[in-house]
Amino acid sequence: MRSLQYDVVVIGGGPAGLAAALKAREKAEKVAVLERNDELGGILNQCIHSGFGLHVFKEELTGPEYAQRYVDMVADTDIACYLDTMVIDVTADKQVIAMSPEGMIVFEAAAVVLAMGCRERTRGQIRIPGTRPAGVFTAGLAQRYMNLENFRPGNRVVILGSGDIGLIMARRLTLEGIKVAGVYEVMPYANGLLRNIKNCLDDFGIPLHLSTTVTKIIGQKRLQAVEVSAVDENLKPIPGTEEVIPCDTLLLSVGLIPENELSKQAGVELNPVTNGPRVDNTLETSVPGIFACGNVLHVHDLVDQVTKEAEDAGAYAAEYVIKHAGQAADKDEAGQGLVEASDRSGKEDAGIPVKAEGLVRYTVPSTICLDKAGSARIKFRVGRPVESGRLLIKSGDKVLFDRKKAMKYVPSIMEQINLTAKLLDGITEPVTVTVEEV
Ligand SMILES: Cc1cc2nc3c(=O)[nH]c(=O)nc-3n(C[C@H](O)[C@H](O)[C@H](O)COP(=O)(O)OP(=O)(O)OC[C@H]3O[C@@H](n4cnc5c(N)ncnc54)[C@H](O)[C@@H]3O)c2cc1C
Repeated sequence: MRSLQYDVVVIGGGPAGLAAALKAREKAEKVAVLERNDELGGILNQCIHSGFGLHVFKEELTGPEYAQRYVDMVADTDIACYLDTMVIDVTADKQVIAMSPEGMIVFEAAAVVLAMGCRERTRGQIRIPGTRPAGVFTAGLAQRYMNLENFRPGNRVVILGSGDIGLIMARRLTLEGIKVAGVYEVMPYANGLLRNIKNCLDDFGIPLHLSTTVTKIIGQKRLQAVEVSAVDENLKPIPGTEEVIPCDTLLLSVGLIPENELSKQAGVELNPVTNGPRVDNTLETSVPGIFACGNVLHVHDLVDQVTKEAEDAGAYAAEYVIKHAGQAADKDEAGQGLVEASDRSGKEDAGIPVKAEGLVRYTVPSTICLDKAGSARIKFRVGRPVESGRLLIKSGDKVLFDRKKAMKYVPSIMEQINLTAKLLDGITEPVTVTVEEV
């Protein structure tokens, strides 16, 4: 088996992996990106609509255009990109084992960046009763069929879930002359960005039915109809509200799950709310030297946010390599031989916990380690829409951030607050992030 050594190995060649690799290469000598597909760019290659890059490039790009900018930047460096290379295992001492066209390769890394993205929830995961005909797709799969493979998924479509991918697909299908009978959402509010509700549904006269879900799939070889029902406040279908909607295709846009099988294999601790790794303010996971960013860490709304986060992960991964190479050299000089993997932790302390309180559902990071970085970017989402909420971030009695102006908060929009080193200086108590209705 071939064995290769790198300073930083990035798993995943989507926007997160590419941005992390570029940033890491600014300080680290040898950087590699491992991608299972035959091209870089990740999921953006199938997102042919515009709306990407407004923050990073101050331009409105399509997904492939945005991805191409990073592919080109990587091509201008000596970052090694291994395509058709599927990582099958990662160990806690940062061995990354991958199947490549040249056979199995073991990448020995000083630091690893996890950037594997996410996958879509399927019918099985939301347990829709009924038969098992053809014509039930996840929205992303239908997007791939239409935009990359040139297939038409069906003629009359029902979409379950008002996440952004479902909304964008409602418009895409309509533009291709396919009838979208309606978008059904189990929650009493839409899950996608407001701009997508307006641009993708309202502008095309596609109805959005809130507090309604699909309760049965009907059809033998091909889907013939779905039964939908209104739900109560506990999201349980209300008997007597059933309605049969004829359709030959059902698209599911019912959530994304971070791809964390490799993270688990490496022993990385996961956050049960996000299903992504628990990280500190340097995006380092519970396994020393393994960092995470992008959708594998928590699901993002906008690729621009993914890029920024990945740049942080790449920079901190490179710093980790430099710091621990320095420590190894110091020990060598002192005649103590090479540093054992278990000594390379850099986890001087467990960090100050960051806690989601009030209507906040989760925060990233889960801890702040001031000995590693003085500042912290706090990202969070609320668990339900809040018409008028007050955001307060505290450590014990010390107020770190107080957004006095009451604002609207919605689960579909990730919020981000930067806490500077000056603000965080000297704190020892857990940091609480609270949104309360006012
Ligand atoms: C179907 C879909 C549509 C979306 N549409 C939009 C949109 O319109 N606008 C928007 O802003 N955001 C959209 N998003 C969100 C989008 O995922 C993020 O903006 C961004 O692409 C996430 O970047 P990433 O690099 O974290 O993940 P990805 O782009 O998913 O990249 C992850 C990469 O890791 C690779 N990988 C995974 N596991 C392995 C392994 N074991 N070995 C090697 N490689 C591996 C994958 O092949 C993939 O290339 C969409 C997401 C999905 C799932």
